[in-house]
Amino acid sequence: MTKNKRGYYVSSIHYGVAVVATSAKEAKQIAHKSGVLLKDMEPVEWISIQVRWIRDADVSDLPIGVVNDTRMGLLCGIYSHLEGGLCDECGKESTVFSYKGLVLCGECVLKQHNVPDKLKTLIMIKSE
Ligand SMILES: [Zn+2]
Repeated sequence: MTKNKRGYYVSSIHYGVAVVATSAKEAKQIAHKSGVLLKDMEPVEWISIQVRWIRDADVSDLPIGVVNDTRMGLLCGIYSHLEGGLCDECGKESTVFSYKGLVLCGECVLKQHNVPDKLKTLIMIKSE
């Protein structure tokens, strides 16, 4: 039996990474071992790592491990947004969101039709 892969957002105080794993415990182990979560240039302690299962994420095409490609982490739905990404539509560097397989800035998402309220609200919160 193959276990289902799931998307997790694994974080310490200031920083989080997208991780594909079959359980929260495995996600935490992967992030801890990878050493990507740092505090004062040192890997963070096990106890300060938090794991959130992102139920809506589609990670079926991604291998188990840290999702090093942040754009992919956004498109699969583990990240809700990225700071300083490039918009596929207008090319502006901005806080970007995933919308129908594209990476778009808030302005370009809001120009689309049928933007889910959840995403609209998030854009409102993230735009100054
Ligand atoms: Zn744009």
